[in-house]
Amino acid sequence: MTLKKSRKFNYGALKERLDLVKNIVYYKRGLEELSLNVTNACPNACVFCIRDRDSGWGVANLYLNKDPSVEEIISAFDEESKRVKNLGINLKRVKICGYGEPLLRFKDLIFVISHIRKSEPNTEIQIATTGWPYFRFISEKETFLKKAMENGLTHIFLSLNASDKVSYKKLVRPGIKDYDENAFEDTLRFGVMAKKLGLDVVLGFIDLDSLDKKKAKILAESNGLKYKIREFENGESK
Ligand code: SF4
Repeated sequence: MTLKKSRKFNYGALKERLDLVKNIVYYKRGLEELSLNVTNACPNACVFCIRDRDSGWGVANLYLNKDPSVEEIISAFDEESKRVKNLGINLKRVKICGYGEPLLRFKDLIFVISHIRKSEPNTEIQIATTGWPYFRFISEKETFLKKAMENGLTHIFLSLNASDKVSYKKLVRPGIKDYDENAFEDTLRFGVMAKKLGLDVVLGFIDLDSLDKKKAKILAESNGLKYKIREFENGESK
């Protein structure tokens, strides 16, 4: 089920100004890491969001004309993985991300993940997300996440970017105008739940001036999560 355009979500400031396309597959770090662009909808409005300045991380236009269907995602993946294999390259990672929040399509992603796993038994399958939308838009229970793992999901890159709730509110603006009071805690809750299920979880922070690195480390460690502080390249959070 694709998402209908909704005022609850942010679609990026350039949406009205660019030609909308159907770019489902893109590469940011070479052909061994294939990324899937599954939606432009996002329930956050991060102040550093690259989408407001660039059509697609400088690698492609990722402003979609509509959310691709499960069949379209699978077909784009099959076509590309075949092409990459024909070049003699093994896919090391499939990253489900895009120019939006992929968790909004989590139930669809279970089918996509299952298909990728059948075709690529040893590839890392990662979802890059802000986490909290799982509880708001999918379920309070772990059932769907567990199902995704059983179908082949292996990694979660969990974008937090702030070491406390006040900075999180200012930077990420979860819920856009209707600020989501529990988003910061729920992001951590999502990470802990994923880790308990057996997924490899990394808590991500962009190295912004406002980031208290010491606090970020303590926060990750006190929740039993790995963490990564990444250079602020161009507004990439996931
Ligand atoms: S940086 Fe990511 S999470 Fe933040 S508004 Fe942009 S797409 Fe959404």
